[in-house]
Formats: sequence, structure tokens, C-alpha cells
Amino acid sequence: MKIICIGRNYAKHIKELKNEKPENPVIFIKPDSSVILKNNPFIIPPFSNDIHYEVELLVKINRIGKHIEPKFAHKYYNEIGLGIDFTARDLQSQLKSKGLPWEKAKAFDGSALIGNFYPKENFNLEHTSFRLIRNGNRVQDGNSSFMLWKIDELIAYVSQFFTLKIGDILFTGTPAGVGKVESKDFLEGYLENDKAFEIKIR
Ligand code: ZN
Repeated sequence: MKIICIGRNYAKHIKELKNEKPENPVIFIKPDSSVILKNNPFIIPPFSNDIHYEVELLVKINRIGKHIEPKFAHKYYNEIGLGIDFTARDLQSQLKSKGLPWEKAKAFDGSALIGNFYPKENFNLEHTSFRLIRNGNRVQDGNSSFMLWKIDELIAYVSQFFTLKIGDILFTGTPAGVGKVESKDFLEGYLENDKAFEIKIR
């Protein structure tokens, strides 16, 4: 199983990190070792002093596919979910400034929180809202309607480079509002009205 992540898919988030709007989706991969086991906390790793949360809509792939056309992309997933792309922002900034790959900052052990999945029929995928609550305060508010590339377009694009397999998960990018986690934080994620995850930070 692999996790394919999209960077810079929301205009306001691109602005807050002072990035340029990309011509094509920015893609990176997290290995299966990045996944946080169920009910485990997120443990702040010793190599970073600036771990950020990034709440994201997730898509679970349920068919094998390559070179998928956008009009057929909807046949490759039945469920969507919510998760966090934990990012060592300090490390990522160093790597970015040197033009180096982001893996150490994005794909480390515990960097992927995968919450619950729900049948896609429960949602209007063109207009699905989600949010992240940190210690009781709403810190990120997202809506799929603001994605620069929609789910089906992402699947089509990604599958030009990577064969999609059953169980692969697509992280579709984070909206604005990313920020630092501190030890003892409590994070909760909601997909529309469903609580998709909760996690403690240690
Ligand atoms: Zn992300």
C-alpha cells in the first residue's frame, strides 16, 4: 500500500506558505511505515521543532489502474475519508531551499494519520466540507469546492506516473490554516458532520 499526496491544491494555502501556484499538481509519496497505528498518539520526532498539522480529504483506491481518464476516475474509488499529513516544516524549508526531496520532512514514521472512511455517495464531492479542531478551537476549515484540481483530475494525473492499486490512499492537499502542534495537544477531524478521527500529540 502506498500513500500519494498532493501539495499546493488550495490557493489560500499556497499563499500562506508563499509558494507559487504550480502548473501541475505537486506529488509526493509516503511509505506504509508512515501510517499511525489505530488509537496511537502522534509522537513529535526528535529531528524537528516545528511539526505542522495539515488536514486533508482522503480517497481510497479500490481498483488497479494506470493512465486513467478523468471521465473514468470515479470508478476507482468508493470511499472518502479524512486524515492529517504531518509535516516537519523546519526540515521541509531547509530541503526546499536546497532543492532537495522532501521525504525526511513528509514521509517519516508517524507522518500519516488516516481516519475513518465513508461511502462517497454520502457526500456531494463537489462541495464537501471538513475541519480540524485543535484543543477545542477550529484551526482549519476546508471545502472540496476550493480544490485547484478535483479528485477525478488528481487520479487521472497521478496514474500517469504511478499505477494505482487497491488500498492505496490519496491525500488531496491541505487548505489554509496549517500550524504547529505542541505536546499534549488534542486534534479532532470532522468530515461534514462525521467525526473522522481524534488524536493526541506527545
Ligand atoms: Zn499536505
